[in-house]
Amino acid sequence: IIQLIDVHKSFGTFEVLKGVSFDVKKGEVVCIIGPSGSGKSTLIRCINALVPLTSGTIRVENIEVSDPQLDKLALRRKVGMVFQQYNLFPHKTALQNVMMAPIHVLHQDKREVEERARALLKKVRLVGKEHSYPGELSGGQQQRVAIARSLAMLPDVMLFDEVTAALDPETVKEVLLAIRELAEDGMTCLLVTHEMNFARDIADHIYFTDRGVIVEHGPPDTFFSAPSDPRTREFLSQVL
Ligand code: ATP
Ligand code: MG
Repeated sequence: IIQLIDVHKSFGTFEVLKGVSFDVKKGEVVCIIGPSGSGKSTLIRCINALVPLTSGTIRVENIEVSDPQLDKLALRRKVGMVFQQYNLFPHKTALQNVMMAPIHVLHQDKREVEERARALLKKVRLVGKEHSYPGELSGGQQQRVAIARSLAMLPDVMLFDEVTAALDPETVKEVLLAIRELAEDGMTCLLVTHEMNFARDIADHIYFTDRGVIVEHGPPDTFFSAPSDPRTREFLSQVL
């Protein structure tokens, strides 16, 4: 469903991605891990066309992301994205935040959207918080509203970039649970995460990036129990 072929990205003379290739199949959960500055966020942002590629190819289903005539709206309907910073609209309630894009971007029927939004908030266990404003919610609750907001566009794939990195340890769990349930429902997920236990648990495949290249990848069992690259071993010894 997502395919990257020899993706390069430079900012000025600084090459952040140096030829990254991989794919994510429908229904798979793929985790990207790696040291700070290795290009993980850049990679995720390239897939959603938030950052233009320097060279290479990215496809999401039948959409060619690097096509200069790319229909960004069509792409973003297929690809939901959740960031570390949840960026909810502070003057809108949880429910209004979730309803906003389907109504104003997709011009869908308000009643249908509301029904879907309520179901999504229920799914991320926020029943009773529909009419709360972001400022009245914990970080973990806000992040779950952000996840519901993305899902409201009915995407085929979800991208998560360190969505728990800014949260208190107690609220991390509930956000990870929401993602886990989403994955178990069959949603295709590509996640950048520092939560190694979560990655080990949930991922079908793990990619380890360092300085713009994938240095190692594999299913979690082999990846964590027998990493072959010294950089992976060093990283894992620091975080596990
Ligand atoms: P972290 O784990 O800290 O989030 P990361 O792996 O997500 O790190 P990126 O955010 O992708 O790393 O950044 C990779 C490199 O690209 C960094 O050195 C960063 O300074 C640089 N970079 C990212 N965005 C830009 C930009 N818009 N302009 C210039 N340099 C950038
Ligand atoms: Mg990042």
